[in-house]
Amino acid sequence: MFCYIFQQQGGTQRTATNTMSNCKRNHAIQSVAARPVEAPAPSVPVNADDFGIDVFNETAMRKYLPKDVAEKLLATVNSGVPLDPEIAGTVAHGMKEWALERGATHYTHWFMPLTGGTAEKHDAFLNPAPHDKAVLNFSGKNLVMGEPDASSFPSGGIRSTFEARGYTAWDPTSPAFIKRHANGATLCIPTAFFSYTGEALDRKTPLLRSLQALKGAVTRLMKCFGLPEETCRITLGPEQEYFLIDKQFYLNRPDLVQTGRTLFGAPPPKHQQLEDHYFGAIRPRIIKFMTEVEQELWRLGIPAKTRHNEVAPAQFELAPVFEELNLSVDHNMLVMEVLRQTAERNGLVCLLHEKPFAGINGNGKHNNWSINYGKRNLLDPGKDPEQNMIFLTVLCAVIRAVDLHADLLRTTTSGAGNDHRLGANEAPPSIISIFVGDQLADVIDIIKSGHSGQARRPSTLRIGVDTLPDLPRDATDRNRTSPFAFTGNKFEFRAPGSSHCCAAANMFLNTIVSESFDYISEKLKDVPANEFNETLQSLLRDILIQHDRVIFNGNGYSPEWVEEAAKRKLPNLRTTPEAIRPLMDPENQKLVEKYGVFTKEEMASRYEIHLEEYNKRIAIEGGIALEIAKSMIVPVVTDNYSRAASTLSKATSDGLKAGVKGLTAVCERLGTGLDALLEGCDKLEAALAEEDSAKIIDAMAALRKTADAMEHEVDDNAWPLPKYREMLFIY
Ligand code: ADP
Ligand code: MG
Repeated sequence: MFCYIFQQQGGTQRTATNTMSNCKRNHAIQSVAARPVEAPAPSVPVNADDFGIDVFNETAMRKYLPKDVAEKLLATVNSGVPLDPEIAGTVAHGMKEWALERGATHYTHWFMPLTGGTAEKHDAFLNPAPHDKAVLNFSGKNLVMGEPDASSFPSGGIRSTFEARGYTAWDPTSPAFIKRHANGATLCIPTAFFSYTGEALDRKTPLLRSLQALKGAVTRLMKCFGLPEETCRITLGPEQEYFLIDKQFYLNRPDLVQTGRTLFGAPPPKHQQLEDHYFGAIRPRIIKFMTEVEQELWRLGIPAKTRHNEVAPAQFELAPVFEELNLSVDHNMLVMEVLRQTAERNGLVCLLHEKPFAGINGNGKHNNWSINYGKRNLLDPGKDPEQNMIFLTVLCAVIRAVDLHADLLRTTTSGAGNDHRLGANEAPPSIISIFVGDQLADVIDIIKSGHSGQARRPSTLRIGVDTLPDLPRDATDRNRTSPFAFTGNKFEFRAPGSSHCCAAANMFLNTIVSESFDYISEKLKDVPANEFNETLQSLLRDILIQHDRVIFNGNGYSPEWVEEAAKRKLPNLRTTPEAIRPLMDPENQKLVEKYGVFTKEEMASRYEIHLEEYNKRIAIEGGIALEIAKSMIVPVVTDNYSRAASTLSKATSDGLKAGVKGLTAVCERLGTGLDALLEGCDKLEAALAEEDSAKIIDAMAALRKTADAMEHEVDDNAWPLPKYREMLFIY
């Protein structure tokens, strides 16, 4: 409790609680300092057999299911063969036996409502039975379908027109897994979540629809190249950035507790300028945390691979080996959960917000995406002329898709949190452009010119089409400022926010690329073999001439690029309200409807949900900023001011000369700050009353500026909020 008493006569008096409040911040520092240093533990040998031990994977299926049932289920998982409904009961039985052996007491349908997180409602296997007994049950129906009450999940208006009921349906392509807690475990069944009338109420349903659309489009395109039909697999490897701070600091920051980001806090003199954190040696407390995270992820079959210190102090990254996209999306949701919970157990807090700290790097989620057809990665320039021809076609299709539908891609990166990151200095700008690197840029120039040629840079790959240049073998230059970069054999979409569910970005990426593939397939499908190469070349040439404005290999952070992009008429949707408007665009709605990803109504509902969520988040931020300013910051400034003022008054009446000038200056600074703070509070209060998000954001920024300036003026012992230099460096 922070409480200050200001007495009109006789100046201020600091109460006992005031002194305690000072202690709170110092106490946090002291207790972090007193933590025992993690001693290296005796190493436990890594057991590769433990990988996926908590997953109902192929090994478990083969052990717990009859052979024919396991085969049928695996055909659905691996090759997308429609699920035979007859096997549900047998699968449920085997899954239950497996889960009970692994210590599970409950099961849940695990889904992704439009809250941004995951949802679970547990049911015990236990059921009362006659004669005072109990049995452990789990039926085919329990596995296949659930009926959670949908009325409290966001539906963006769909619910009011239809029914409050919601259903969950088993997604057999993402295996069931077990989540453990201190004294038990729960069997989790990944599911899609939709309304009584079949509208998607979640993120998985449209993602699965988009995957089906893209696989169809890939197959049609590959047929044009004369390839036999093979299994198509879309892959994803999401790199996850996060901050870790000590829980003691977190608990003293109501802004972090309520919003996940600091709404106040002056930049410390040293933050990331020296770039000494990036890839630095990992501190003992953090590596212990990372190791626990990885061990848990490996048990869940999540191939966590890479770990390192990121650029900002207290910032880190985890990257998995890529997997089938739908599975990888589920896994990333689990990664975020395991990061949070493991931090909690270690006296840390994991911040997944896109911009927890102003003025230093924010958190992103790099969405590495590629397409596999049979054994070949279609984005791999490859080793033979045919593969290179396919590669260039896919590359051009993606360029066309991103240019035509940059607005839809941008939509998927919107949100109150990511608004602070996109366009800021460390993150991709809100303008969507593609980086291909200098070598591919050469290739593109040659294709556009319509002449045969040799790329200027050393290249070793023959394409075997006369007018197409040879390809560089390793086109992996790097550019960290591009929102959508070709990185060797995949595209890396860097704009999504660290807290986002990957489904959002990928469902639209899949959809727009499907459309582009179909555009090309339509032009190629009836072309006789002897004209194929020529037709393809002129098609790619036309596509590039029309769409290469979206390619930008320069510095995406520079102000010149913003100007240049405007000249090229590339959309620059700066804030969430602008960025989500494309969801209401009739052309976009037609496109997603054509590919069966969303109905017009579903798309409109997403707009409503995003807008409402955005406004709610901003109102919460404004509310807690006001509360902190009024009840924590104003009181300490008042207290410091009144002490200085009464000292000044006493010094003047005692006829003292020295110190009067200084005290007057201190009073002036604190008094001016106090006035500005109160004025800022009034403005914020008015903006909150108006429920105007843009005004709330401006008022919060102005209030923060004043408050952060006061952080440098006020007695350090009295400042109530843990400072940046503490949160980011003391752990
Ligand atoms: P960076 O230099 O951006 O850190 P990495 O080589 O570490 O790149 O890879 C980043 C991520 O890209 C990893 O999660 C990796 O699994 C993923 N990735 C690699 N190849 C593919 C692919 N073909 N499809 C999808 N993701 C991939
Ligand atoms: Mg990367």
